[in-house]
Amino acid sequence: MNYERTKQLYQQLILDHNKNPRNFRIIDPADKEAVGNNPLCGDKLVVYVNVNEDQIVEDVSFIGEGCAISKASASMMTTFAKGKHIDEVNHIFQQFHDLTTGKLDPEKDEHDLGKLAVFAGVKDLPARVKCATLSWHTLHAAVNGKEQISTE
Ligand code: ZN
Repeated sequence: MNYERTKQLYQQLILDHNKNPRNFRIIDPADKEAVGNNPLCGDKLVVYVNVNEDQIVEDVSFIGEGCAISKASASMMTTFAKGKHIDEVNHIFQQFHDLTTGKLDPEKDEHDLGKLAVFAGVKDLPARVKCATLSWHTLHAAVNGKEQISTE
């Protein structure tokens, strides 16, 4: 995919998921939940997750307020994580983190990010890296039994 096409896709996905976020709801009761805070931008999310005995994410959702990138990223995170094994989710979280910080180049390096690769552009916007990764950090915290995280 060329750069212009990636940028277009990025904008479309951000707009779409921001306007119509997926899994934007409370799970009650949830096995685990965590609050993620990105004070730099003002993004605040709660991520809810149910993990079954086989370590599969049966359900995951989020609520909260934040910028378009944090919301779109959270929405895409939930659609990705649902139905996946926790190990796979952690693996993608690592790749997504490397992507947004520029350590992974989706054009050259092998990855399993799928559509999430559109967030590659975030590496040129350092202030936005925390927006894009907030929901992933929060999911990670919830799964590991932490109740809140802050990007600071
Ligand atoms: Zn933000």
